[in-house]
Amino acid sequence: MSTPAIPFKYMPSPLFTDPYADEWTAPFWEAAMREQLTAPKCTNCGKFRLPPSRWCAQCHAQDLEYVDLPGTGTLYSFIIVRHPLTPDQQDYVPYIPAVVDADGAPGCRFVSNMVDVEPEDVNVGMPVKVVWNRVSDTLTLPFWTTA
Ligand SMILES: [Zn+2]
Repeated sequence: MSTPAIPFKYMPSPLFTDPYADEWTAPFWEAAMREQLTAPKCTNCGKFRLPPSRWCAQCHAQDLEYVDLPGTGTLYSFIIVRHPLTPDQQDYVPYIPAVVDADGAPGCRFVSNMVDVEPEDVNVGMPVKVVWNRVSDTLTLPFWTTA
């Protein structure tokens, strides 16, 4: 497989090119291929559980459904990585790992990266929106940027 393109400024180096999906996570990756953000929700008590677990921590039910989300949220936390961990990552710094509270899914925090925003302009509490990177024919990844 060829090296994925770098469509966004401050995008981290690609860690993988295909998802590892099982019956619990496949709906997320399938929705991502359609550029639709989703989150797993317990069908018994309504609590979101991300990452999806086999049993709900709230009510111990096993069934869940994936709910489409609007693709917006609030930046909960972030760091700025300025030092490459390995020499081949020199072209990928700085990058901005981030944790986002997603709108429409109380309690769900997505871990990804902020892209297309200057590191000094990133602030906790800022509104963000999802952007998509089609990495391969089987993988599309969500990133976040300024809303
Ligand atoms: Zn539950």
